[in-house]
Amino acid sequence: MSTVQAVRGMNDILPQASGVWQHVEHVLRVTFDRYAYREIRLPLIEKTELFARSIGEVTDIVAKEMYTFADRNGESLSLRPEGTASCVRAGLEHGLFHNQTHRLWYLGPMFRHERPQRGRYRQFYQAGAEAFGWPGPDTDAELIALSARIWRELDLQPIPNLEINSLGDSDTRQRFRQKLVDYLRRYEGDLDHDSKHRLQVNPLRILDSKNPDTQKILTAAPKIRDCLDRESRTHFDQFCGLLTLLNIPFTVNDRLVRGLDYYNRTVFEWVTTKLGAQGAVCAGGRYDGLVQHLGGKKQVPAAGFALGLDRLVELVGSEGATWANGVDVYIVALGEAARAKSWDYAETLRDHGYRVESFCGEGAMKNQLKRADKSGAVVSLLLGEDEVCANTVTLKVMRQRDIQITIDAEDLVDKVGILLSEYRV
Ligand code: ATP
Ligand code: MG
Repeated sequence: MSTVQAVRGMNDILPQASGVWQHVEHVLRVTFDRYAYREIRLPLIEKTELFARSIGEVTDIVAKEMYTFADRNGESLSLRPEGTASCVRAGLEHGLFHNQTHRLWYLGPMFRHERPQRGRYRQFYQAGAEAFGWPGPDTDAELIALSARIWRELDLQPIPNLEINSLGDSDTRQRFRQKLVDYLRRYEGDLDHDSKHRLQVNPLRILDSKNPDTQKILTAAPKIRDCLDRESRTHFDQFCGLLTLLNIPFTVNDRLVRGLDYYNRTVFEWVTTKLGAQGAVCAGGRYDGLVQHLGGKKQVPAAGFALGLDRLVELVGSEGATWANGVDVYIVALGEAARAKSWDYAETLRDHGYRVESFCGEGAMKNQLKRADKSGAVVSLLLGEDEVCANTVTLKVMRQRDIQITIDAEDLVDKVGILLSEYRV
């Protein structure tokens, strides 16, 4: 019978890879915590309407990429393609926005029906940060400082490049929209199929096109920066000033508009050259209108980002994995009495925080030691009838052929500690 395969674009993360994921997730949690962002856990499935209304009907995500299905009662539901919409929905539903500020983070799988390729999957993982209630550029800058700290903690080399832009207010976008359409009409025949369609429904999206011919046309296109309203210009200048104060280099990318409809003013992307075509590791911006757009009574200023974990994990690489996958002590026990006694030692070592693996069942010494070697343990604890009678244990430092000592059982924890600090790499 043939075996069942995973769904295309949905990956298993195998044990040899999960260590680096755990490391990255740990750094994220600690860093969010340092900036006083609190975790929010959200469902994987929402009403389709939520995404259509927030992300926008004519965005790629909603038009082509969602996993949408009818529930048993006929209601249209979708697997979440991103986290911001759910975050706002939850905030509204639980009254989090009544004269309050919130800094929130989330982490988990997202789903988009895209063409799978390196760095682009159908189930992928995002960690996001969202700050509600603050209108100023200091919040935008804090999000940048937070992400920059994540790169430093993960020792990314080189640090991804920060690209920023401002989309202004809705008047800005309307003025700019007209200018852009006037410009692009002249090249309409040369635009790619998607862009032609967008020229009618959502021309700003064309700036996001990845088609090289369209990009060429765009080089001389008008700039949204030249259409900014006064307040947005000040906001942007102050944002740039704060980045300089924080010593974070950036470039202004006039074509950065982001693929979602809800952004205004600040938008940004962290881009690396190390991952081929899929270079964006983190992206976000300000979305002051979204809460109200989803039914909130008052405007709630907000800004946030989403970070692509799959790409980040690839950047960190396998070096990040070693700490999480190791074993400190491997227990080798020969004979029934020794096996019974070995539970006691294994549990005591675990009480003290050591990672302990035991050979299960009966096995010859040679066989057990082979497993010990494979486990990567630093020390193995050898226990036979002699040791049990004398109330001693034998410790063998793996990979150091000549270091083997027999000690009183009561010295076990201390001695293991000493050997580990000496021989753990
Ligand atoms: P892209 O331009 O690469 O399609 P996007 O603009 O669709 O990205 P966002 O919706 O802003 O991406 O998501 C934020 C981050 O999530 C991206 O910068 C990327 O790191 C990651 N991401 C988005 N889609 C995928 C995917 N299909 N597979 C893996 N990571 C993804
Ligand atoms: Mg995309």
